[in-house]
Amino acid sequence: MADESRRSPSFDPSVVDRLACPACLGKLRLEEGALVCAACGRTYPVIDGIPVLIADRAAEPSH
Ligand SMILES: [Zn+2]
Repeated sequence: MADESRRSPSFDPSVVDRLACPACLGKLRLEEGALVCAACGRTYPVIDGIPVLIADRAAEPSH
């Protein structure tokens, strides 16, 4: 069992500039191995270096 989950994302961070939040089309920023929407606050996981931009998979802000 390799500790893969703690590895930082391997994709090019500049790609984030071209991605948009699937829920609100807001801008995303890379934060601690996840993509955070600046507009609605949803957090999208990055799994094996691939951003999972699926609204159903997003963690919504708790407040
Ligand atoms: Zn959003």
